[in-house]
Amino acid sequence: VVLAALHEALEPHGLMFPMHLGAEGSARIGGLIGTNAGGSLAFRYGMMQDLVLGLELVTPDGVVWDGLRAVQKDNAGYQLRKLFCGAEGTLGIVTRAGLRLYPTPKQQAGALLVLPDFAAAVSFGAFLRGEAGEFLTGLEFFCDLGLELALKHVPDLTYQLETRGDVYLLVELASGSPRVPLDGILNSALEWGMEQGLVLDGALATSGAHRAQFWRLREEQPEGQRLEGEQLKHDISVPPGAIARFIEAGARVCQDILPGVRINPFGHLGDGNIHYNLSPPEGRADFDGKAGRLAEALSALATEMGGSFAAEHGLGRAKIAMADRNRDAVERDLMARLKGALDPKGTMNPGVLVRPPL
Ligand SMILES: Cc1cc2nc3c(=O)[nH]c(=O)nc-3n(C[C@H](O)[C@H](O)[C@H](O)COP(=O)(O)OP(=O)(O)OC[C@H]3O[C@@H](n4cnc5c(N)ncnc54)[C@H](O)[C@@H]3O)c2cc1C
Repeated sequence: VVLAALHEALEPHGLMFPMHLGAEGSARIGGLIGTNAGGSLAFRYGMMQDLVLGLELVTPDGVVWDGLRAVQKDNAGYQLRKLFCGAEGTLGIVTRAGLRLYPTPKQQAGALLVLPDFAAAVSFGAFLRGEAGEFLTGLEFFCDLGLELALKHVPDLTYQLETRGDVYLLVELASGSPRVPLDGILNSALEWGMEQGLVLDGALATSGAHRAQFWRLREEQPEGQRLEGEQLKHDISVPPGAIARFIEAGARVCQDILPGVRINPFGHLGDGNIHYNLSPPEGRADFDGKAGRLAEALSALATEMGGSFAAEHGLGRAKIAMADRNRDAVERDLMARLKGALDPKGTMNPGVLVRPPL
């Protein structure tokens, strides 16, 4: 089942599956489970592992495990369903899944805000989480370079505010009750942000279509940078309060390695997930053979700050060496032993996530 088809099928029933990401027109439930996808609602509803209640699975030796239960609480031993979320197809093939659904919100409110810098974005984000509580469902960020590239390359994309800043926040509130004053909550937070000098400008969406226009500015970030030419993608996470520090330290590290490299961080402010993507310096088409050094330095920095170098896209084959370098040998060994126990012949996605035994 393709994610967008699931959304469509649920709509007439007043239900939703709270997983939204740029690939929803092609990503299937099996792939989302395999990568333990996160997306823009993860800080509110969790990642795929929090939304899967049960699984049916074919193990590498061809046995079917029917674990298709539909309860949140099930402590009858190891949490097998979670083990297969993020296993990247290395431990078995998911054939059916029971997913946790939510009622569709009765109302939503959204805003696009312009901020002077990342420190302001972190402070305002923390304030908003306190003010809007469980009604806050979206807290995404992008930077001015990302906006510029998206506006330059993506047709029909418009930016309607008069002010530009270093950082932009996309905020969304939702409620199952029509009586919660979402616009009022958002408005007063915005006023507070402006008084504090944390917000330079902002606009509240006046309709669903207007909200969708704001979201497009965030969603077209990867496309804008892709169309600019060569790029390096890094899928980092740090504790949300450390985002500004990571971005500042990351910029120093990157400029030391490749002066002039263009840095385009965007992502999910609510859970600290930064897509720290790079474009070559102006006038250059490539990274001067320094791609590996840049990736290593950024992953080491994320690790040092208590975060991850593989926040929501997984390891695949490309990040195995990085995992070996950045993670405790005990952790890597536990994973290799799990793989060996469940797939002793190494037939499932060999070479993904852990090295095949010599
Ligand atoms: C434009 C774009 C935006 C994205 N944005 C986000 C984002 O915001 N957040 C996020 O978390 N991710 C994001 N992603 C990554 C996305 O979540 C994954 O690419 C997607 O989930 C993979 O789904 P797929 O059906 O294409 O799976 P595939 O690419 O086919 O498979 C993905 C992995 O799952 C395994 N797998 C597939 N099916 C099964 C199965 N039935 N049983 C067991 N294992 C299986 C595969 O072996 C593979 O390791 C984005 C990707 C793109 C292209």
